[in-house]
Amino acid sequence: MPDESTEYQGKAIMEKITSLAKRRGFVYQSSEIYGGQNGAWDYGPLGVELKNRIARTWWKEMTQLHDDIVGLDASILMHPRTWEASGHVENFTDPLVDCKNCKTRFRADQIPPENLDARKCPECGGELTGTRKFNLMFKTHIGPAEDSASVIYLRPETAQGIYVNYKNIIQSNRMKIPFGIAQIGKAFRNEIVTKNFIFRTCEFEQMEMQYFVKPGTDVEWFNEWRKRRWAYYEKLGVKMDNLRWHQHGPDELAHYAKDAYDIEYLFPMGWRELEGVHNRSDYDLTRHTEYSGKDLQYIDQDSNSEGTSVPRYIPFIIETSAGLTRTLLMILCDAYDEEKVADKGNDDDWRTVLRFHPGIAPITVAVLPLMKKDGLAELAQDIRTELKEDFSTDYDQGGAIGRRYRRQDEAGTPFCVTIDYQSKDDNTVTLRFRDSMEQIRVPRSELAQRLRQEIKNYKRIK
Ligand code: ATP
Repeated sequence: MPDESTEYQGKAIMEKITSLAKRRGFVYQSSEIYGGQNGAWDYGPLGVELKNRIARTWWKEMTQLHDDIVGLDASILMHPRTWEASGHVENFTDPLVDCKNCKTRFRADQIPPENLDARKCPECGGELTGTRKFNLMFKTHIGPAEDSASVIYLRPETAQGIYVNYKNIIQSNRMKIPFGIAQIGKAFRNEIVTKNFIFRTCEFEQMEMQYFVKPGTDVEWFNEWRKRRWAYYEKLGVKMDNLRWHQHGPDELAHYAKDAYDIEYLFPMGWRELEGVHNRSDYDLTRHTEYSGKDLQYIDQDSNSEGTSVPRYIPFIIETSAGLTRTLLMILCDAYDEEKVADKGNDDDWRTVLRFHPGIAPITVAVLPLMKKDGLAELAQDIRTELKEDFSTDYDQGGAIGRRYRRQDEAGTPFCVTIDYQSKDDNTVTLRFRDSMEQIRVPRSELAQRLRQEIKNYKRIK
């Protein structure tokens, strides 16, 4: 647990990140003009770019780089029996207590046990209610009648959409075990406590991959997927010292899991789960077989030897489940830095910089004419148009050049290209690097190639 001072510092950093996110158009509070909606957030122009890029990197990693994994986009609304089979109707609950005095609501497993035993509110000392189970699924009705026959749920995880389609995919795409199905999509949970910005929200996005394996090979595949997921974060360029594994103890294991590890990240508020890697055994497909009455066994044609019957079995499932919006928060925290860059004794001494990997930065290159006049703005626009096809660009001609660099630093733009009078004479531009603030002169004709190279060879220096 962080001590009080680190907890205080953590809170202050989170506040700075939340305020930067709003100021620069990454994330806004949902329906803010009405006072905001708890557990819901909106992604602004830079936020949606960042989210799309994180999703794209994950998708490429999981599908393009793995011949044995295919994609899926299942619907959010599913047959309600799905959630009976999955165990969510019965088991997807949090223990809930309320304070009778200040009306604050807590998760019983998140307050000190002594408070729970004494039934004493940790906020105001008032009396707590007894613990009751609270189902996290959002329930609504489909069609005009609001009766029990029309109940439908907003999916609390994307995984079930994959399980109910596993046979379709085997048949349509001739997949052979071991193989995986990847999916990115929205999930909804009626979370009791939603604090820490976008860490835990009621509406969020998940990036899940379910890998179907032969029983008996599951432990080996489980270890393999743990290795691969760790390597993915190395590739993303995050600070690896801020990541660790946490194995679920017997009390933490979900009802479906045989073994489970979380990848945790050191967020400003402490170590928290970022992604789960789970060995879900044959639980899910066995339950769907039972509830749907359909035979979901895999027919293992390849293991068939002459004269024996074709082996059939319910595959085991290894799941890797990461939050997309939670990864975005991790990336923001990981990239956030304040750096002293001068010694003049004023605000300009410090800069705030987001050190995104150039492969996921919302803006890759900003084009800045030193002056608006003497044709510099036109030349800069022309260069921007040239870069647009291959890079995400920004253009800024307002204010002192130093201020403009700072604005781009705060948005996490890794490269700025400045056009000055010399550019008109010799067709060169200044390329400025966000991290080192180093500036070099590059011929315009080599600019795009140079940027591609810099993105590919990027190494974080801080
Ligand atoms: P927690 O214990 O934090 O409630 P969980 O163990 O229930 O999470 P999983 O069901 O394993 O989480 O979900 C997989 C991933 O989905 C998590 O690692 C997290 O990144 C993301 N996730 C889960 N719930 C939320 C939420 N309410 N808001 C944002 N992301 C979430």
